[in-house]
Amino acid sequence: MTLRAVKGMNDILPDEIGRWHALEAVLRRTFELAGYREIRTPVLEPTELFVRSIGEATEIVEKQMFILKREDESLALRPEGTAGVARAYVGSTLHNREPVSRLYYLGPMFRAERPQRGRYRQFWQAGVEIYGDPGPGCDAELIDMLVRMLSGLGVQNLRVLVNSLGGTETRARYREALAAYLRPKSAELSEHARRRLEDNPLRILDSKNPQDQAAVAGAPSILELLTPEDRAHFEGVTRGLGALGTPFEVSPGLVRGLDYYTRTLFEIQTTGAEIGSQNALLGGGRYDAMVKELGGPDVPAIGFALGLERVLLALPAAAAASEPRCFVAPLGERAQVEALVIARELREAGVPAEADTRGGSLKSLLRRADGTGSRLCIVLGDNEIERGIVTLKDLAARSQIEVPRAEVVLRAKSLLASAPPAGSSGA
Ligand code: AMP
Repeated sequence: MTLRAVKGMNDILPDEIGRWHALEAVLRRTFELAGYREIRTPVLEPTELFVRSIGEATEIVEKQMFILKREDESLALRPEGTAGVARAYVGSTLHNREPVSRLYYLGPMFRAERPQRGRYRQFWQAGVEIYGDPGPGCDAELIDMLVRMLSGLGVQNLRVLVNSLGGTETRARYREALAAYLRPKSAELSEHARRRLEDNPLRILDSKNPQDQAAVAGAPSILELLTPEDRAHFEGVTRGLGALGTPFEVSPGLVRGLDYYTRTLFEIQTTGAEIGSQNALLGGGRYDAMVKELGGPDVPAIGFALGLERVLLALPAAAAASEPRCFVAPLGERAQVEALVIARELREAGVPAEADTRGGSLKSLLRRADGTGSRLCIVLGDNEIERGIVTLKDLAARSQIEVPRAEVVLRAKSLLASAPPAGSSGA
């Protein structure tokens, strides 16, 4: 029986990895330019961490965690990055070293969801966390950085949604107002929403069910219930975005699936058809109470997470260009060893190179060179060795020259530095 990968967990094969590397490089560069430093936390955390931070009455905690029981421990594969980073921040000395900490992460997350295009059980997220800045300037700056990064990557048709959930007081009042509005309509709600009505009515705003969407259509807006402080904060965010020239829409129905958010909440979507129904590229918000709830100091925080698969789906499919390579093709036994030496010299000079070690006719070696995507092929046989030369073939230009053995690295490098002829693939 052939073993298959777990449903919703995908291999990223070598032909696809160039696009991943290119995206990861842009993410890292963007974050590092803005003063974020990388943090890597474990993929396994105590289950309790996610229950306490994400919230018990959420889809993720109720249904989507992969949980491992070991002796008397319950561990969960992280469904998101914020909780683990906050745990590390609290548990280390980071929180008393800097007044403001800017951290970023990049890695796989796990949720037992029903897989579909753009929704997987293992997926990659990149995100940042800012601790110690109550905003609203840093909220606007963060959203602006993300919009510019996505536009710069070439993602088209961006939609930037922002909302405020207010502080704890506003949240509590809004829960009540929403539940009071929905109770008389409970017969129109889906069964799932009916259950949420008392324990977490905000989740109903998130529902994709058309019945629930119809029921919440006329619901009161949270923005009407903001306290003066919350309102001033939200106005600060929208004013900041205006000043930075970032297009956005205020979306009072935006609540997102995690319970820890306070005040600013945002999501960036693309309306392009290529991505299908999973159109949210990233989401984030403020969670001013989380660090304290996890046993740390009373430090405000904001963050976001972006799904790498989704961004790759939204980007044009052009393959990322790979570095030009060299293939060394020996003909005969003496050349075999010499080819290994040449390949090593090339690599030491920073040229990606591999030598054939399987042998065969010139034709089959050239086919292999093509298969590795090499632009240059260095051919040497007994004749070349005796004459102290090698044949340097430019596979893209379909030309060849003989060069002295001692100059092979230099000549290969200068050929690779020149542009491949127009119309060739460059390989
Ligand atoms: P969340 O952590 O739910 O706020 O999601 C943030 C971003 O992560 C989303 O906008 C998606 O881009 C991505 N994401 C979340 N869940 C999945 C999933 N199951 N598969 C792929 N990407 C996901």
